[in-house]
Amino acid sequence: MNALPHDPIRFDDGLRRWAEGLFERLREISFDGVGISRATYGAGETEAMRLIAEAASSEGLDVEYDAAANLLISLPGTDASRPVLATGSHLDSVPQGGNYDGAAGVIAGLLGLVHLKRHGIAADRTLRVYALRGEESAWFGKCYLGSMSLFGKFDPADLELTQSGSGETLAACMAAAGADIERIRRGEPIVDPRDIACFVELHIEQGPVMVARNIPVGIVTGIRGNVRHPRAVCRGEAAHSGAVPRWLRHDAVFAVSEFVMRLDRHWETLLQQGQDLVVTIGILGTNPAEHAMSRVPGEVRFSLEYRSQAPEVLAGFEELVQEEGAAIGRSRGVAFDFGPAVPTAPAVMDERLVAHFDAVCDRLEIPHERLPSGAGHDAAIFANEGVPTVMIFIRNEHGSHNPAEAMAFDDFFLGAEVLINGLLTVTESEP
Ligand SMILES: [Zn+2]
Repeated sequence: MNALPHDPIRFDDGLRRWAEGLFERLREISFDGVGISRATYGAGETEAMRLIAEAASSEGLDVEYDAAANLLISLPGTDASRPVLATGSHLDSVPQGGNYDGAAGVIAGLLGLVHLKRHGIAADRTLRVYALRGEESAWFGKCYLGSMSLFGKFDPADLELTQSGSGETLAACMAAAGADIERIRRGEPIVDPRDIACFVELHIEQGPVMVARNIPVGIVTGIRGNVRHPRAVCRGEAAHSGAVPRWLRHDAVFAVSEFVMRLDRHWETLLQQGQDLVVTIGILGTNPAEHAMSRVPGEVRFSLEYRSQAPEVLAGFEELVQEEGAAIGRSRGVAFDFGPAVPTAPAVMDERLVAHFDAVCDRLEIPHERLPSGAGHDAAIFANEGVPTVMIFIRNEHGSHNPAEAMAFDDFFLGAEVLINGLLTVTESEP
C-alpha cells in the first residue's frame, strides 16, 4: 500500500458543477428523441469530441487528434521524456443508448486534469486522457476501432464495412472524422505501448452487482474472455409421439435439456471452488419447419457461450462441454455437434494496479469492492498490448446500452477522485 505524498485531491463545488454542466451539454447535443446516439465515426461522436476538446482547451490543457481521429488531452509532466500516465474511455454510444457509457470515463479523466491545472499542480509524468473512437460494435459490427488503431491492430479490410444505418463505408466515415486513412490502411501503430506507463479506464458498471451490493466504486480484477459456439446442434431421431416408447426414443430436446442441467451443476461446483464463470444458452429451438406437438423432436439447434476471467477455466469448461455431450450422446443415442468454438481471450488487469487503486479507496475512505467486468472494454486492448491496466467501475442503475442508465453524480465524483489520486501516486515500480 502506498501512502499518498500529499493531501488527497477532493473536487470543489465549482468543479463539480462544471462537470455536471458538461454531461448536460453532451446530453443535449446527442439526444435523439428517445436516448443518446453518438454514432461511431459519425456526426454524434465527432460533436462530442469537439465539445470535450473545447472544454479542455478553455482550461488551458493540450488538445490534439491522432491518426485515427481519437482525441488526446494532456497535462505535461515535469519530465516529459517518461512514459505517460494514461486514462480515458470512448465517446461513441449505441443507438438510443445512455449518456454515461464511455463518456463518464472521458469526463472523469478530464476532471482530474482540470483540477491539477486550476491548482497549478504538475505531476512528474505527463497525464493523458484518451477520448477514443468507435468502441461500440452497433454501427459497423466491430468494436474497439479507435483503440485497435492505436496499436496497429486495426484490420484494414474493415475499412470496407458499412454503417448499419446510412450504408456509408467505414473508410468514408473515418476520413470525414479527420482520420489519416492511408496510415490506418498500412496498419502502422500510432503509439508504442512502452510509452504508456499505465492505462486506467473509469466506466459505469453495466451489470446489477454494485447496486445490489450498495457499493459506489468497484476495482476491476479482469475483463472476462469468452468461448462461443454459435451453431451447436443435437441430432436424435424424429418419431411419432404416441407410438415410440421411452426406451426406443432418441429425443433431442430431452438430450439437450440434460446437457444444460449437467452444465449448470458444473457451473455451480466451479463457483463453489471460487472460480469465475458465467454460462448462457441464448438461442435454443426445434426446427419450426418440421416440429409439432405430436412429434418426438429429432433435432435441436442452440448457441452456447461461457465467459471467465481465467483462461484455464475457459479451457477446462470446454472439456466438460465435449465430455458431457459425448456421454449424453451414448446414453440417449443422439449426437452433439458443437460446431466451431470462437474464443476471445480474457484481459488480465495489472495486480499491482488493482492493489494500488484498492489502497487509494481505503485512504479516501470510499466503500469499494473488487469485481470482474463481464462486458468488454477498450482497457482490454491496452492490457493485451502489455500496458499495465486497471479499470474503475461506478455504480449505475438500470444496466447500460439503454436511455435509462442512471449514474449518481456523487458516485461519479468518488470514482473520479479515486482515478486522479491513484494516477498521481502510481510509483515507478507499479508499474
Ligand atoms: Zn462503454
